[in-house]
Amino acid sequence: MDAPLTLIGSGMAALGLVRQLRARDARRPITLITADSGDDYSKPLLSTGFTKRLPPERLATRSALEVADQLGVVMRTHTRVTAIDPAARSLSIGAETLPYGELVIATGAAPRVPFAIPEAVASRVFTINDLDDYRGFYAALEALGRPARVAIIGAGLVGCEFANDLVAGGHAVSLIAPEATPLPRLLPEPLGRVLGEAFGEAGIALNLERQLTALDAQGSQVAVCLDDGHALAADLVLVATGLVPRTRLAAEAGLAVSDAGIRVDRQLRSSQPGIYALGDVACVAGVNAMYVQPLQASAKALAATLAGEPSEVHYGAWPILVKTPLLPCVALPPIQPVARWRIEGEGADLAALAEAEDGRLSGFALTGACVRRKVALARAAPALLV
Ligand code: FAD
Repeated sequence: MDAPLTLIGSGMAALGLVRQLRARDARRPITLITADSGDDYSKPLLSTGFTKRLPPERLATRSALEVADQLGVVMRTHTRVTAIDPAARSLSIGAETLPYGELVIATGAAPRVPFAIPEAVASRVFTINDLDDYRGFYAALEALGRPARVAIIGAGLVGCEFANDLVAGGHAVSLIAPEATPLPRLLPEPLGRVLGEAFGEAGIALNLERQLTALDAQGSQVAVCLDDGHALAADLVLVATGLVPRTRLAAEAGLAVSDAGIRVDRQLRSSQPGIYALGDVACVAGVNAMYVQPLQASAKALAATLAGEPSEVHYGAWPILVKTPLLPCVALPPIQPVARWRIEGEGADLAALAEAEDGRLSGFALTGACVRRKVALARAAPALLV
């Protein structure tokens, strides 16, 4: 029997691809190998669950068993692929070797933690990047049996969404970041400032333009020490300081990778024949967008390619919708150099339009009531990957 099409990972990229493949071919043998539980869940919902105290099982729509059954795939859960041998078309799981027909790497991205976490506080310091992480943090909150004091390190998309979600869930939140305003990579400063004000009014303590200097044990709490000499007492610390594509397997197998991910072309082909990549781990023709719409488009194109119709992926001008109900924000970060930002609106309802040298729109950011302009502006903005 031919070796199966094999996927590493069971996140939205891998499962999205299998769904697209099954729509074309119900019988092709497919094996999915995943380091986690293999439960089907929507990762974007992780940063919305604490408002309603949603237990982790409510976030998983289907168990791995149900996924395997419904999609007709062999699924190996809690199983980590340790090496890939492109010449032999096989992969290793420790001492075990498995042949593959074609291989798709969908290993996602891992939290980047730019400082050491002392052993004495490790059980109270978290990252939340998958359902298992959510389980751990949820259990820690429940174990306290009262609203928690949570210090969040990092004010990017993930840090801001969790800050909003946790404060809405009744917890006391401090947000710590070196930048002057929240969401620095998505919102120009005037818009970041209004988001900061909305956070402040909701009771989130902003510690901006502050670096973390140490995390120390202080009884049952963590002393979060800042470079201005102050220390905040927290029950729990959430580290949200960015994500790095999990490229190690690919790099060790000799595939071309960069800091932005496994290098693939618009057909999602890596530098090795028969190996493809998509999702947060893949840098597609120089772009690693790390959000859902691009991976869905990639899954569709790759399914066609694997079914014998070579297809290139195209990304549109797809704005990022930030889940901060305290002040809704939408951003399409400019992909060309910005000559000037034009700011329109007043109060918390602002639109920032990034203009290229020739005056054309190259991206935008919107807050409050201005988010309703997203569709019209996206129509005028350049696509992420034409
Ligand atoms: P992952 O979901 O990370 O899956 C990677 C898989 O690979 C996992 O199953 C893992 O177990 C497996 N794996 C890794 N290494 C190995 C190995 N060696 N062997 C076997 N298996 C392995 N995007 C949006 O568009 N909108 C949003 O609102 C949004 N909100 C978000 C909120 C949060 C809190 C986060 C963290 C992200 C959010 N995103 C959002 C981004 C979006 O969720 C991701 O782009 C997407 O889920 C990535 O899917 P993936 O399948 O590429 O990676």
